[in-house]
Amino acid sequence: MREAGGMRPRMRQAETVEGLVEQLIDVGDTVVRRGFALASGGNLSARLPGSEEFVVTGKGTWLDRLEPGDFTVMNLDGKIVGGNPDPSSEWKLHQRTYRVREDANAIVHMHPQHAVLVDALGHEIRLLTLDHAVYVRSVGRTDFHPNGSDELADSAAEQAREHNCVLLAHHGCSALGEDVGMALRRAMNLEEAATATYRALLLGDRTTGFPMSPDEAIQHA
Ligand SMILES: [Zn+2]
Repeated sequence: MREAGGMRPRMRQAETVEGLVEQLIDVGDTVVRRGFALASGGNLSARLPGSEEFVVTGKGTWLDRLEPGDFTVMNLDGKIVGGNPDPSSEWKLHQRTYRVREDANAIVHMHPQHAVLVDALGHEIRLLTLDHAVYVRSVGRTDFHPNGSDELADSAAEQAREHNCVLLAHHGCSALGEDVGMALRRAMNLEEAATATYRALLLGDRTTGFPMSPDEAIQHA
């Protein structure tokens, strides 16, 4: 385990698979510590740009206690090519998304409470701040499908063609990025937007949103 106060990896694009794994170990710790997932709820993956192979967390691994040996190396056909022989049951979610998004090099799948709740109650997750607009930009969603199923993986990948953040109904979210840091920032901003939406709903507000389109906001950012 990482020692308190120890060096944490930089979150810019890693140059080696070991570097990616180190970043994902750090992300797992952050995700659990900040309450975006409980223990083994969620999974993480990454690849080097242009690679046909990705690393994904193993089945039942606790996200805040990941070690390099927990990661499975898989290719885009879904074959295990190295590392932990027992990948997360949700590996298809990662594999199918990489297949449709050549630009995606990391996927953070977690189970954030507010995003799932707001969606389950039939409300749209609203983007309210500049960060929400710039990082999340838009939110895709899929209906509920069983964990690890082809239906879930394929419908999430379909949504990922258009959106960098996809809400998986009654389950969690999947956020992708060109590197591990961007995927994490998107996932965290999605949950922050959902928390803000939840608070707005408690105050009786059902309409307030960001004052310009996310694309305009990005141009100004
Ligand atoms: Zn999940």
